[in-house]
Amino acid sequence: MNSYEQWKTLAASLSFPSQAYINGQYVDAVNGDTFDCINPATEALLSQVASCDSADVEVAVAAAKKAFKSGVWSAMAPRERKNIMLKWAQLIEQHKDEFALLDTLDMGKSISEMVGIDIPDSIDCFRWTAEGIDKLYGEIAPTGGSNLALISHEPIGVIAAITPWNYPLMMASWKVAPALAAGNSVILKPSEKSPLSVLRLAELATQAGVPDGVFNVLPGYGHTAGKALALHNDVQVIAFTGSSRVAGLLMEYAGQSNLKRVWIEAGGKSPCLVFADCEDIAAAAKGAAASIFTNQGEVCIACSRLYVQSSIKDEFMAALIDAAKGYVAGDPLNPATNMGPMVDKAQLETVARFINSAQADGATLVYGGLPEYQEGQGFFAKPTIFTDAKNHMEFVQEEIFGPVLAVATFDTEEEAVALANDSKYGLGAALWTSNLSRAHRVSRQLESGMVWVNTWGDGDTTVPFGGVKASGNGRDKSLHAMEKYTEIKNVWIRL
Ligand code: NAD
Repeated sequence: MNSYEQWKTLAASLSFPSQAYINGQYVDAVNGDTFDCINPATEALLSQVASCDSADVEVAVAAAKKAFKSGVWSAMAPRERKNIMLKWAQLIEQHKDEFALLDTLDMGKSISEMVGIDIPDSIDCFRWTAEGIDKLYGEIAPTGGSNLALISHEPIGVIAAITPWNYPLMMASWKVAPALAAGNSVILKPSEKSPLSVLRLAELATQAGVPDGVFNVLPGYGHTAGKALALHNDVQVIAFTGSSRVAGLLMEYAGQSNLKRVWIEAGGKSPCLVFADCEDIAAAAKGAAASIFTNQGEVCIACSRLYVQSSIKDEFMAALIDAAKGYVAGDPLNPATNMGPMVDKAQLETVARFINSAQADGATLVYGGLPEYQEGQGFFAKPTIFTDAKNHMEFVQEEIFGPVLAVATFDTEEEAVALANDSKYGLGAALWTSNLSRAHRVSRQLESGMVWVNTWGDGDTTVPFGGVKASGNGRDKSLHAMEKYTEIKNVWIRL
């Protein structure tokens, strides 16, 4: 990996995209408006980006629909689509330092995380999905007699992908790759807080051979560009990652328009259960710290609620605070940094508000505390831990999306499961135990789309990702992701 000095030099020579990408070319917003992209580590202006709204949505949807209807991509042989997507993946790889820098500068994620996780994961998502599409077969139903019932998976039409700011390239890849692989046209609406990397991605799509109009990127605000996409009658699917609040709005917009499908990857308040029989308390503490402080806690699967068995509480808390000391906020361009700034001032203020509410509700601050913000110096928060958390407290129930951990104790397995499930969310959960039966028993009972045993956050393109309850529906990644972007069709023939 590059050194700190090398990353700084590369960053200084980087140019930033600023226009929307529609029908195979960069264009300004119809109304000429822009919004500022700020580097959250320095508060310096990076780029003034086209601020799209409903007028741009009309243009992009028309281009995407026209491309879909023409069959230029939707009717292309899957093997040919595969080859283009593989070329696209190769181009991303060739520009991987640039992509790593774009997300790090745009939203504050550490460069080592970009290099170690986001970039390889995104490339792998494109490659693996592309490799899958010419190996999927249709079916013949076992109807018997003088009938032939053919079942096929068809592309749907125009898909709008609306994505968050915390893993800009990776979250977009998880939607764009399977939606395009299935033959759809896609309009990606990235978060207004981190649109830069996917604007660059669009240009590479054209270079790889994706036909004009098939992949478009509309930067803009949620309540303008996002809402207009969700209300549009020619958009057939919304593939969303973001907050549960906005997910609810999107379902309303679907109801008000054409009943488009709304696939949701939303918020979380994931629990981590540490049992006294865990094999290695220090390892569990390290895993627990990583699960809340990675990416400054701006992670949907962050384990922001920790329940530790009473008998090991003191030993575990000492190890946890030790592990927390390993997280120090700093310049995300430095490969040694493992915590960058919060994405913007509003997010830093949210963190501060929840720290105040935790204290007001009677939780005990044992590590970290309020951010010490200095104007112009970046939006840095501190890794923060509270004990004596109670499930009724606001900071235990609500997603903070920052490095703030709530710790409580339990005595029995039954109590641990009840505490863990006492949440409107159900995205991820971690549990630490060396008892195999307990691991299975508790995993089964947790109301959660994903459970990690003696680890946290591990994943693979081959494994589905997603949640239950207010955390969403459907799954990203794996072949199950294709279910979101294809329509089952049957043709019944009397012989
Ligand atoms: P957000 O809901 O504020 O925004 C997400 C996207 O929706 C953005 O592109 C935004 O512009 C757009 N949007 C906002 N209002 C809209 C509206 N009225 N109509 C249409 N679009 C609108 O979320 P965020 O702050 O960008 O991201 C953080 C959230 O994302 C957290 O809740 C986090 O848990 C969640 N998240 C979930 C997953 C997952 O896989 N489950 C992954 C990453 C992030």
